[in-house]
Amino acid sequence: MPKIYMDHAATTPLKEEVLEAMLPFLKSVYGNPSSLHFFGREARKALDESREKVARALGATPEEIIFTSGGTEANNLAIQGVARALSFGERKHIITSAIEHHAVLDTVNYLHSTGFEVTFLPVDEYGMVDPGELERHITDNTILVTIMTANNEIGTIQPFEEIGRICRERGVYFHTDAVQAIGSIPFNLKEQPIDLLSLSAHKFCGPKGVGALYIRKRTKIKQVLFGGAQERKLRPGTENLPGIVGLGRAIELAVTDMEAKSAYLEGLRNRLIKGLLEIEGIRLNGHPQKRLPGNVNVSVLYIEGESLLLNLDLKGIAVSSGSACTSGSLEPSHVLMAIGLDHQTAQGSVRLTLGSDNTVGDIDYTVEAVKEITERLRKISPVYKK
Ligand SMILES: *Cc1c(COP(=O)(O)O)cnc(C)c1O
Repeated sequence: MPKIYMDHAATTPLKEEVLEAMLPFLKSVYGNPSSLHFFGREARKALDESREKVARALGATPEEIIFTSGGTEANNLAIQGVARALSFGERKHIITSAIEHHAVLDTVNYLHSTGFEVTFLPVDEYGMVDPGELERHITDNTILVTIMTANNEIGTIQPFEEIGRICRERGVYFHTDAVQAIGSIPFNLKEQPIDLLSLSAHKFCGPKGVGALYIRKRTKIKQVLFGGAQERKLRPGTENLPGIVGLGRAIELAVTDMEAKSAYLEGLRNRLIKGLLEIEGIRLNGHPQKRLPGNVNVSVLYIEGESLLLNLDLKGIAVSSGSACTSGSLEPSHVLMAIGLDHQTAQGSVRLTLGSDNTVGDIDYTVEAVKEITERLRKISPVYKK
């Protein structure tokens, strides 16, 4: 039986080159970057080099990069840090979207419980935020807009540059969760109107448990963790040097030949979408064009996404039903509900996210498998009538 991984939005395999880059820092180079002796200086040098690599990949400067433990922590630091620095009196308004990752949604919900006003912008049937509507919600009390670059479930890419321009004109900080976008969407933060940007290494073939927050120079932000002076005090604690070195190497590789890699994934993705839509009673979720090159999300009518997932697993194909963070609970995904799906259609959806390790053969095998499983499950479904 084949083993086909189509869950790259959940996490990605570590690249061999990334592992090679990390190994010395798990073995011989064990100094603490804060130590003044030779061991420390050697570690410090690697830390600085990684920061430069991340900065170069984003068109930022090294001082603008803060290493964190991943995307979740970067989002928390961005939102809570700006909230701590800027809120006073009535100036306690944050704007976000209904389809953010839980690391953003739960953070703004927490702030709401402490007295912040939060606007959750709706999205259209494709998962798109309307920049005009965003602008209408900005008031003198708005301190932060946080809208993801691309959605982890349905792959929709937001008009983030337009959103950023509006925020800049109105003097409001713009944070974007770019965890799914790195390696698929080019960034040049010298030009793009983004004040804070979150990323996570394990979503682009780097190690788990390490990420970064880009913070534009002169952006007002306060620490949310307390301890040492590492990462300009914004992320105290001894640095995860093997992880950070891995992140540096991974992002360097992710932005090399980005166009060619995206074109390859888009080819596979379009073939998969075409194949799946030829099966009766399957609809595509997310935007038909403005979507991540490796993202496919479909609703299979009259079938539970969970059953399809488990049956695909038996055929050696790894997919996800909705978001990995929401599966395990019976609640349908908040993203699929926000784009207007009814409960049943939302429950019947699966996400297949591709990576450069996938082949045309994988795609064709998967289409056949979905077809066979769908027909078999519908035969025994009490709600399906042909
Ligand atoms: C995976 C993911 C996160 C969380 O990143 P971690 O590094 O796993 O904490 C945040 N936002 C989005 C959009 C993601 O896909």
